[in-house]
Formats: sequence, C-alpha cells, structure tokens
Amino acid sequence: MRALTELTDQELADAVAELGGKPFQARQASHWLWKHGVTAIDAMKNVPTRLREGLAARFRVRAGELAQVDEAEDGTQKLLVRWADGETVECVIIPDGERTTLCVSSQVGCPVACVFCASGMFGVRRNLTPGEIAEQVLLARARLPADRALTNLVVMGMGEPMLNLDGLLPALQRIHDPQGIGMGARRITVSTSGYPRQMERFAAADPSYNLAVSLHAADDELRKCLVPTATAPVREIVAAAHRYFGQKGREVTYEVVLLEGVNDRPQDAQAMVEALGALPCTVNLIPWNPVEEIARDRGLRRPSVPRVDAFADALRQGDLKVTVRRQRGADRSAACGQLRLRHAGANAG
Ligand code: SAH
Ligand code: SF4
Repeated sequence: MRALTELTDQELADAVAELGGKPFQARQASHWLWKHGVTAIDAMKNVPTRLREGLAARFRVRAGELAQVDEAEDGTQKLLVRWADGETVECVIIPDGERTTLCVSSQVGCPVACVFCASGMFGVRRNLTPGEIAEQVLLARARLPADRALTNLVVMGMGEPMLNLDGLLPALQRIHDPQGIGMGARRITVSTSGYPRQMERFAAADPSYNLAVSLHAADDELRKCLVPTATAPVREIVAAAHRYFGQKGREVTYEVVLLEGVNDRPQDAQAMVEALGALPCTVNLIPWNPVEEIARDRGLRRPSVPRVDAFADALRQGDLKVTVRRQRGADRSAACGQLRLRHAGANAG
C-alpha cells in the first residue's frame, strides 16, 4: 500500500477524482498532510467521510515511523526513522538560540565511502523517495515544543544528495512550497561531497537553494584518500560551485572535517588558501566526531582545540572567512550515521 505522502499533487488529484472527489478536496487533503501533519486519514476533518474511507482503503498516510529518539542534554534530538521495507535513516533536530535546524538524510547508507564517515561504512542500500525525504520534516516538526518552529533545513544526514536528485528535488519543492511545508529556499542548504555535473542540475532548480561542498582537502591526492570514490578534481568542484551558486548570490560553504595529522597541517591550510582564497565563500571547520570502529581500524583522531585554532588562523590570514563547528549532542551518538550504526549493531547482536 502506498503512502499519501509519496504521491505527487497530480497523483493525489487523480486518486481523489477516481473516488468522485473534486480538485479542491485533493488540495484540502494535501493541506492536512503537509501543513497539519496528520497521521490518520480520519483526522482530515473537512474531507467528506466517503472520500476519506475511499482514500483509507487505498493508501497509508505516511511511508515511515519513528523508531527511536535519542535526546542530548543540549536539546539536540536524533531521530531514527524506519521505512516500510525496514530500512532506517537518521535525522537530527538541532536547537540553537532562536534557530532550530533539522538535518535530514537523502539515502539509506552512502556510496561515497569517505574514510571518516559512519554513513559510508556499508555502502548505499537505496535512495530515499521524495516522500521519505520530506516526511522527515513532518516527523521532526511533531517533536518540537509549541513555541519552537523549524527555521533551517540542511541535507547533511546520511547519503549523497547529488546522487539522488530525483528524490531530492521534488522533496525540496514540497518542503519549500507555501502550500506544503513552507520553508524559505534561503533557509535550505544541501551538502555534497562534490559532483560538478549534478551540482549544475541542482543549481538550475527553481527556487535556488544554498550549497555546501564537503572539500576536506584542496590537494587532489589527499582528497582522494579521504573521499576515495570522488572523481572530479578539486578545481572543477570549486569552479562548479562558484559558477552555479556564487553568481546567483547564493552562499557557498566549504566543509572541512579535520583529522589530526591527516588534513590539519600547515601545508593543508596553505593549499586551501590557494584554492579558495579569492572566492566569496565561508569555510566551516568540523573537528572529526570520532566513530569508534573507524578510530580503531583506521587510526583516525579528532584534532586538539589548539590545532583546530591554528588551522583556522592560517585560513583567516589567507583572507578566508572561517567558522568552527561546535560539538553538539556530544553526549550521544552525534556524528552522522552513528545512531543507525549502533542500532544495526544492537539488532545484530
Ligand atoms: N554526503 C554529503 C552530505 C552528508 S555528510 C556530504 O558529504 O557533504 C554531511 C557532512 O558531515 C559532511 O561535510 C561530512 O564530511 C560530515 N561528516 C561525516 N561524518 C562525520 C564525522 N564522523 N565527524 C564530523 N563530520 C562528519
Ligand atoms: Fe557519504 Fe557524505 Fe558520509 Fe562521505 S561524508 S560517506 S559523502 S554521507
């Protein structure tokens, strides 16, 4: 049985029409789904009973359900979502002052296999559908107290969004649509490990969203060690980011996950200044969030605060704008992919 959230507007209109309903009733149903976030068709109060019964006989409301919530002392909530086929993904709610950011997943697992990342440890299982990506917003919204709303969305959970644009773009449309969830495009940021051709297609989307590029290293050899499946050279990735996004006045953020002694050395900062120095962008430094298995098997370490500061200073001296990500939800499985990893471990044993 398909879920109503999986239907395009046209498919919902067709289903309503087949049941003898009118186009405005399909819009009402959609409003209940995305604006009110109902979880039962019976809760669609202004939809006539016969139409509701007809829909209920053919559709479920949602594709997924909340399987687990991990709440940290700082208010960060990590949600594990289970889909109908038993696969799971994570999304994370991050309150920060007035802002509340939601981080969603775009795939189950990830094919890119970055050496430091829990999401990429077992490859990709499948793409998420548009409904599954957008539904994460509904599940998260329902977890917020009445005086909080989601203000920002980042596609930085599990998966490589550029490798699932057919899932991502309709989902973002739904999340942005004032008749849907209604979040401003400027508040939506998608993070990629760097696929220039797909970035072009993403940039052509209307409305245009913000882009974050997970660069990690400006030197191709070193980058290849960190992002082994990446094929595009750094200069092509950077050129694509600025050609498509910089010119539209959208923000380009470069993310650099810092690993001690691997990519946090003075020469790594220097290479980054040379690659990015003259471009309008921000570099966001992310001290690695250790994943136990990876730290053990690959000997990776999170750099000390002075090392991170030194790297940041070197970039600033090269006229780059730099931010350093604070650790959030540190007392729980904080990094992307880790909750699912633990969950899978618990199930296995
Ligand atoms: N696949 C996309 C988006 C998901 S990953 C991408 O790579 O950009 C989102 C961000 O989390 C990326 O910048 C990634 O490098 C970072 N990340 C992954 N694992 C991490 C870890 N253990 N500690 C810190 N950052 C991590
Ligand atoms: Fe995939 Fe991003 Fe993790 Fe790399 S960092 S394995 S691209 S989710």
